[in-house]
Amino acid sequence: SNKPKIVVLGAGYAGLTTTKRLTKMLSPEEAEIVLVNKHNYHYESTWLHEVAAGTINPNQARVMISDVVSPKRVRLVYDAVVEIKKDEKRVVLENSEISYDYLVIGLGFESNDFGIKGMGENAFAIEDIDSSRLISEHIEYQFAKYNNDKNASEDSLHILVGGAGFTGIELVGELADKVPELCKKYDVDRNKVRIINVEAAPSILPMFDKELVTYAKKSLEDRGVEIKIGAAISECTPEGFIVGEEKELIKAGTVIWTGGVKGSSVLGNSGFELVKGKVNVNSDLRMPEEENVFVIGDCSWVWNKEADRPYPPTAQLAMQEADVVAANLKALITNQPLKDFVFDDKGTVASLGHSDGIGNVLSGYKLQGKSAAAMKKVVDNRSLFMMGGPMLVLKKGKVRPF
Ligand code: FAD
Ligand code: NAD
Repeated sequence: SNKPKIVVLGAGYAGLTTTKRLTKMLSPEEAEIVLVNKHNYHYESTWLHEVAAGTINPNQARVMISDVVSPKRVRLVYDAVVEIKKDEKRVVLENSEISYDYLVIGLGFESNDFGIKGMGENAFAIEDIDSSRLISEHIEYQFAKYNNDKNASEDSLHILVGGAGFTGIELVGELADKVPELCKKYDVDRNKVRIINVEAAPSILPMFDKELVTYAKKSLEDRGVEIKIGAAISECTPEGFIVGEEKELIKAGTVIWTGGVKGSSVLGNSGFELVKGKVNVNSDLRMPEEENVFVIGDCSWVWNKEADRPYPPTAQLAMQEADVVAANLKALITNQPLKDFVFDDKGTVASLGHSDGIGNVLSGYKLQGKSAAAMKKVVDNRSLFMMGGPMLVLKKGKVRPF
C-alpha cells in the first residue's frame, strides 16, 4: 500500500509520548505506526535513583507498553536497535530489520564517563531498570555480608557517588533514607556506614541559587551524607575513586558514577554527526539535511536561542518535543508547513529523599522542604497520568490519597 509507515525507536518519555499523540492525530488509513523498544515495558527514568537506592520496587517504575498503547493501532516490536541506515531507510535490530518512511529516534541516554580511566569497568551507573536494580542489590548484599564475613572491612559498607548534579544529589538523598533501614535490618551500626558524594565543581547543583543549594547541602549533611566539592575524580579503581590533585584514594564497597549522560551509542554506531554524543537538531526537530528523520529526547540537542545554549535534557523537555514531532509528522504527511519547537519551562524540582527537596517553579517561585517533596510527587504522578491516565496513577502513583 502507499500508506506511509512511521517508525518510532524507544518507548521512553520521548518515543512513547510521540506514539500516543500520533494515534490521536492520524487515522489507521492515514499512516501505519510501529514502536520499537528493547523491552516490553516503559520505565520512568526519572525514578531510577529510587530504584538504585532501593527505596521503591523496580516494578513501580515500569509500565507495560501494551497497557498504554493499543496493539491494535500500533505495531509493537520488542527488540534492540543496533544501527540505523538512514540512506536506505532501514533500521537493523538485534533479531530482525525494519524499513520506514518516517523515523523518530528516541533511544534516550547512556552514562558518560568522559573516558575516565577504569570508570566503565569499576563503577555502577544508573542507566535503566536493570543497571539501577543491580546497585540496590549490591548495596544490600554488602550489608548482608558484613556480619557474616570475618574479613569484611568497614569500607565495604561505604557508598561512594561520583558527581553531584541532579542524579547524584537525588541518589544520595534516597540513600540517606535507605541506610538507617538497612542498618536495622542487618544489625549494622549506622556509624560504620558512610555515604560520600564527590563533585569536581565548586558547588553542588549549580543550576539552583545559593539559598537552595545551602538548604540542600545542610539537609543531606544532617542525615549523614559527606559532600566533597572541588574534588575532581581522575580514575576509578576496583577499590574506589582517585580524587583531587593529591590523588587521594577514597575506598568503598559500592562505587557509583553519576557524572553525566550522553545520547544512545546507536547514534555513533550509525555514523551520525554528533556534538558531545548527541544530534544537534533543526528547530523543527529534524536531523540536519534529513527530510524524514526526527531526533528527540536525550539523543538530541535543541537550541535555546534566548540563552544561546542547548536546553538541558529532561523528561519535561522530551515530552514537549514529542508533541511537536507528532504534529510535524502529520504536517509532512498532509503537505502542511512544519512548526518550530518552543520550550515552555514549568520549573525544576530536585528531591532529597522521600520527604525533602528543593525547587524553582512558576518562573521564580522557590520551594524547599516538604512542599518541594510534595511537588516532586505531583510531577511524577503527572507523567504517569500523561502515559496512562488516572488508572495508572492509582496503580503506580507516588501519593496515596489517604
Ligand atoms: P529514556 O527515558 O532514556 O528512554 C529511552 C527508551 O529507549 C527506553 O525505553 C529504553 O529501553 C529504550 N532503548 C534504549 N536503547 C535502545 C535500543 N538500542 N533499542 C531499543 N530500545 C532502546 N528529568 C526531568 O525532567 N525531571 C526529573 O525529575 C528527572 N529526574 C531524573 C532522575 C534520574 C535518576 C535520571 C537518570 C534522569 C532524570 N531526568 C529527569 C532526566 C530524564 O530522565 C531524561 O531526560 C529522559 O528520560 C529522556 O527521555 P527519553 O525518552 O529521551 O529517553
Ligand atoms: P549532570 O551533567 O547534570 O551532572 C554531573 C555532575 O558530575 C556535574 O555536577 C559535574 O560537575 C560532575 N562531574 C563530572 N565529571 C566529574 C569528575 N571527573 N569528578 C567529579 N565530578 C564530576 O548529569 P546528571 O546529574 O546525570 O543529569 C543528567 C540530566 O538529567 C540533566 O540534564 C539533568 O537536568 C537531568 N536530571 C534532572 C533531574 C530533575 O529535574 N530532578 C534529576 C536527574 C537528572
